[in-house]
Amino acid sequence: MNAPPAANTYRPAEEALIERDIAAYLEAHGRKSLLRFITCGSVDDGKSTLIGRLLYDTAMIFEDQLAALASDSRKVGTQGQNLDFALLVDGLSAEREQGITIDVAYRFFTTEKRKFIVADTPGHEQFTRNMVTGASTADLAVLLIDARRGVLTQTRRHAFLANLVGVRHFVLAVNKMDLVGHDQAVFDAIVADFDAFRRQIGIPGFTAIPMAALTGANIVRRADEMPWYQGPALLEHLEQVPVEPASAAGFRLPVQWVNRPNLDFRGFTGTITAGRIRPGDAVRITPGGATSRVARIVTFDGDREEAGAGEAITLTLADEVDCSRGSVIAAADAPPELADQFEATIVWMADEALVPGRSYWLKTGAVTVPASLAAPKYAIDVNTMEHLAAKSLELNHIGVATVTTHRAIPFAPYAEDRALGGFILIDRDSNATVGAGTLHFALRRSQNVHWQALDITRDAHAANMGQRPKLLWFTGLSGAGKSTIANLVEKRLHALGHKTFLLDGDNVRHGLNKDLGFTEADRIENIRRVGEVAKLMTDAGLVVLTAFISPFRAERRMVREMLTDGEFIEIFVDTPLSVAEDRDVKGLYKKARAGQLKNFTGIDSPYEAPETAEIHIDTTAMTPEAAAALIVDRLLPELRR
Ligand code: ADP
Repeated sequence: MNAPPAANTYRPAEEALIERDIAAYLEAHGRKSLLRFITCGSVDDGKSTLIGRLLYDTAMIFEDQLAALASDSRKVGTQGQNLDFALLVDGLSAEREQGITIDVAYRFFTTEKRKFIVADTPGHEQFTRNMVTGASTADLAVLLIDARRGVLTQTRRHAFLANLVGVRHFVLAVNKMDLVGHDQAVFDAIVADFDAFRRQIGIPGFTAIPMAALTGANIVRRADEMPWYQGPALLEHLEQVPVEPASAAGFRLPVQWVNRPNLDFRGFTGTITAGRIRPGDAVRITPGGATSRVARIVTFDGDREEAGAGEAITLTLADEVDCSRGSVIAAADAPPELADQFEATIVWMADEALVPGRSYWLKTGAVTVPASLAAPKYAIDVNTMEHLAAKSLELNHIGVATVTTHRAIPFAPYAEDRALGGFILIDRDSNATVGAGTLHFALRRSQNVHWQALDITRDAHAANMGQRPKLLWFTGLSGAGKSTIANLVEKRLHALGHKTFLLDGDNVRHGLNKDLGFTEADRIENIRRVGEVAKLMTDAGLVVLTAFISPFRAERRMVREMLTDGEFIEIFVDTPLSVAEDRDVKGLYKKARAGQLKNFTGIDSPYEAPETAEIHIDTTAMTPEAAAALIVDRLLPELRR
């Protein structure tokens, strides 16, 4: 058996290019439909042999055509049109630099009847994220089974995940039948086993095929060795399976960016995720709700009369409407919903467990927003489908949780629209993908609790106070001097007639936050509540001072984002651990060293120093009075109205 060809293998970094190549290929070879599928199973199950067989035995690889297409689509920048398509290509590279390190190889092959793209992903459990990525664009999943071993945990896991990310067709490929004497009883038992499982997780149906990848039996041609099997060979099945459009929803285009090369042209660029569109069609933009009509459909190869799901296009509209990157242009009668709180299923993909309450980037459709997850309602045991109690999600765990986005985003349930309902979660510091998930529905809270518009605005309050509100956020180790300096700053501001309030960490823990401990999740909630209270106080026009260790960058950033631009002033009270420990004002370091105090910052819990604090105070270089004077001098001009 020859090795499978490699020339037409794409790596994920080029996913955007693949999308374009596919769109261009379909355009040129419109008669043939495209089936995207994924093979799930490990190397031992015979996965590479199977893929190799499909590629090699069909022997209709069009690597030349593809290479030509790829170079064509890269030439567009020089076509001398109004549009600067180089911009478009740059935009795609920005997408690709998200830091998503996922290993999926896409292979292309074609037969007389159909074109295929197979996503090949490493099969071990730790590669769940690859599998999810590959499956998220697939129409069909081939679940590979070793006839000697039957349905394994991994098979169940893959079936569950593929179903979760919207794969509609399943093939149970019972391989290595030659090693069990082509015995029908073995096959039937495996099929019965899987049948019971798939009913449990709601997979509507599947096709089981007995095969032997090594000999090629039932892969491309029907095999004589198993006369008891009357069904199609794998390839035949793949050629016949109906590929319905991805969703029944009307036209949708998440806007990837706004293309504005000159004053006369304003185009909205992206890949159509559902439906079809023609010039003249009525559209509605979410958020905002503005309506207009399509003026032109612009592509690499000139204007079009029609375009559909999967195609990368630029739309121009008849009216000047409010529409920006992240907006969704949809059929006027089928706009997506807008919400900021959802129930979702999440697959956790990082070594470091999910931290409930922490802010992650959530990327869906064309939008990337800060978002946080509540502690999971439950985790799911993929073997038994049992719901397990869970406080967090570890690597490869699957759970259901409430997701809250920083602002309302256009969305549709995943079952209806994979692009708007599917999301990935990205760590905000490392930029690594840490999870993936599907949005089920918006929580009613987000739709029923509206922001009450008040007549006395925050600006009116501030004007009455005769100042600009600020939040002075003091952060640093315990004993660094936060309370001491904040207290002096408040005294000075007060003496100057400013309206201030100091929220002290210890004091807040006696009241508002007395139900919280010192675990990571509780610390995050502590800071979140303090942030919300401080925000209300700035709404009332006050200059608020807070003295909290607030050891994690992510949480300080969370509070910064709650406030209006420029209102959050981070003050790093920088004192080396050894100095703070020597001072040991409250005797806490001694207790922590003696092991009587767990999770103490600096001892057995980390302190993440600010990278971009507005004000940096080195307490080894100045007295508390000098520090307070410095801060007040810096602030006074900013407090004036
Ligand atoms: P925190 O609020 O950061 O836990 P505190 O303000 O309660 O810290 O305690 C800091 C202690 O360090 C106080 O007793 C303060 O007098 C002392 N200290 C000594 N030098 C300085 C300095 N340069 N700046 C701030 N505090 C200092």
